[in-house]
Amino acid sequence: MKKISILILAVLFISCKSEAQQKEKNTKEFKVQKTENEWKAELTDKEYRILRKAETERPFSSPLNDIEEPGVFVCAACGNQLYETKHKFKSGTGWPSFDRAIENSLALSSDRKLGYERSELLCGDCGSHLGHVFDDGPKETTGKRHCINGVALEFIPKEKL
Ligand SMILES: [Zn+2]
Repeated sequence: MKKISILILAVLFISCKSEAQQKEKNTKEFKVQKTENEWKAELTDKEYRILRKAETERPFSSPLNDIEEPGVFVCAACGNQLYETKHKFKSGTGWPSFDRAIENSLALSSDRKLGYERSELLCGDCGSHLGHVFDDGPKETTGKRHCINGVALEFIPKEKL
């Protein structure tokens, strides 16, 4: 009898545990939830391919590369404030580059699309793909390089915030 109750307890414990893990996964879901069709309807074709399908824009193709005026870069899919001009730097890569994001604005994932592990940057509110982060940023600040698709961002000048 004792053995059976231990067994039952063990089973209960295991099932509780998997339920807890499930919960943790659910809370990681993004605040902004849309279906694929809703995203397709809202975004341009190019935005959809980059933000929702994690494609990469051609280097030196984004007008945001040249922006130096004070302001904020928001997620092109949901408007979440992601980056400030003061943290932008000239990386020479052809993609808008920042040494850090606005605190708690991003989510991190990883991909092996190029055969090695890269840290993928997602919008923390809607989970859209933004770009990747590398460790070859400016040493005098954070040492990080957030390499972002300009298509994934919209620039809002300081006076319009
Ligand atoms: Zn977003």
